[in-house]
Amino acid sequence: VKLCIFDDGRLGVVRDGMVHDVSPILDRLPPWRYGIRGGDPLIAALPTLRADIEAAANGVEPVPIDRATFRAPIIWPGKLVAAPVNYEDHVVEAKADPGTFAPAQVRSIGEMGLFLKATSSLVGCGEGIVVGKPERRTDHEVELAVVMGQTAYHVKRDAALDYVAGYAVGLDITVRGPEDRSFRKSLDSYSVLGPWMVTADELEDPRDLALVLSVNDEVRQDARTRHLVVDVPGLIEMASSWYTLHPGDVIYTGTPAGVGPIVPGDVITASIERIGTMTVAVRGE
Ligand code: MN
Repeated sequence: VKLCIFDDGRLGVVRDGMVHDVSPILDRLPPWRYGIRGGDPLIAALPTLRADIEAAANGVEPVPIDRATFRAPIIWPGKLVAAPVNYEDHVVEAKADPGTFAPAQVRSIGEMGLFLKATSSLVGCGEGIVVGKPERRTDHEVELAVVMGQTAYHVKRDAALDYVAGYAVGLDITVRGPEDRSFRKSLDSYSVLGPWMVTADELEDPRDLALVLSVNDEVRQDARTRHLVVDVPGLIEMASSWYTLHPGDVIYTGTPAGVGPIVPGDVITASIERIGTMTVAVRGE
């Protein structure tokens, strides 16, 4: 099933280009109370609610997706994990341009480990990207995004995909420069997720998906996830060997070659095979 959050926080099921509003299901989430943590409440409850969500979608009149404003499909991720330098062709382009990509930050993922982006940077495709440092270069990075479904700690790669709730198209928007990645990639709106989450039962193997990003109809990034240096099971193993992953945590898996600048007025189109296509407007503050 394709799950989305749209307009003023409605829960939707996307089928054949239409959004079915199933928001009444949200009333069945466990009551929130201060003092309890445990990941994103909807993602945590998804195994229980899944069948009823699909049944509810059957009973409502849908609206076309172009009439919906898509928010990020995860509302309360505990963390946004991200992989640096995880496609070999992106490593090559970064090493070839030391003026843009600080050499100290272009070491192997084995040496760099993973990094975190602020959850406050998360937006949906309908909200768009606001360039926050116009005097600096801001780049697009299209990435397969993995949404965790179950609490995962010290999970081995062979079992890792069992812990995934679903997948989405991610944009890891980045200010270039010498500062720490978490600082340059955490501006408001610099983590785009969308247009919806495809649940893992509909996408059983994420290891060879085409991903394409265009800016104003010019293709800039065109790759397949089989060229990831550390693949999705490997990233889950790697992350969960250092910290617990919770339901709703998102892993941005890294970007292939072709990253480049975006400026206000640009329109980004990003697609991943078997997930979908999202259009994201770039504007100034
Ligand atoms: Mn990235």
